[in-house]
Amino acid sequence: MVFAKKKWGQNFLVDNNLLEKIIKTIDITAEDEVLEIGPGHGALSEKIINKTEKLKMVEIDPELIQIIGQNELLSPFEIFNQDILKTNLKELGLNKPKVIGNIPYNITSPIIFWLIDHLPYWSESYLMVQKEVAQRLIANIGTKDYSRITVMTGLYFNIKICFYISPNVFKPRPKVESAFISIKKNNKYDLSNIDSKRYSQVVRMAFNQRRKMLRNSLSSLEINRDKCKVDFKRRPEQLSIDEFLDISNNIIS
Ligand code: SAM
Repeated sequence: MVFAKKKWGQNFLVDNNLLEKIIKTIDITAEDEVLEIGPGHGALSEKIINKTEKLKMVEIDPELIQIIGQNELLSPFEIFNQDILKTNLKELGLNKPKVIGNIPYNITSPIIFWLIDHLPYWSESYLMVQKEVAQRLIANIGTKDYSRITVMTGLYFNIKICFYISPNVFKPRPKVESAFISIKKNNKYDLSNIDSKRYSQVVRMAFNQRRKMLRNSLSSLEINRDKCKVDFKRRPEQLSIDEFLDISNNIIS
């Protein structure tokens, strides 16, 4: 095993029972194509290839690329030595893969936004994330966990916590607890009619000053208040996704 590099969030899975549990949860069939983010030494990858022969991997660490290259089971599979955040999923030659990863926790939000940016090009995603982040992703309106990432992902995804994971199954052992989450597309909103940049701008501005009323945090936006049904004396954690949409649909350009 190579010396774990902190800058790339390397905490390797070393518990076979947990790996089996993950594979059972993802339910991969032989027809499934899979993109694994950050295979590391290939602990999870070796389980994935028992289910499908259509696996590709993206790994940033050249040393780990070499290790996978020397692994008889994994060397036949394509692995890209690059940053997932700079990867264009469309160009990997996969057809709507399941995206799976025990990802570096320091780039969880960027990876989730990467999934949003590449929405048409994958089917489902399964990620390991820090427990607190998982709780923010599934938070109910009005709670302290309800935040920018809840409202951003809620427009596109149904996210579920499949199970929690103890730090003991990793080497080195992380300081935080983890959760394994599933991300499925919700198809609840007609995205072709939504200006996602505006939505994202409104959500960001509102949560940047989450203690403030919307009339203050959004004061620099010109909004058609007659058409918009939202009460601007409220704070962002009290607003549903539909209400954020109502605001963004009524910005006057
Ligand atoms: N999947 C392995 C496992 O479960 O044992 C390794 C998981 S480790 C938490 C995260 C992996 O993601 C490491 O192999 C790391 O080098 C890789 N990684 C970190 N940043 C990355 C990035 N921006 N793009 C692709 N891979 C990255």
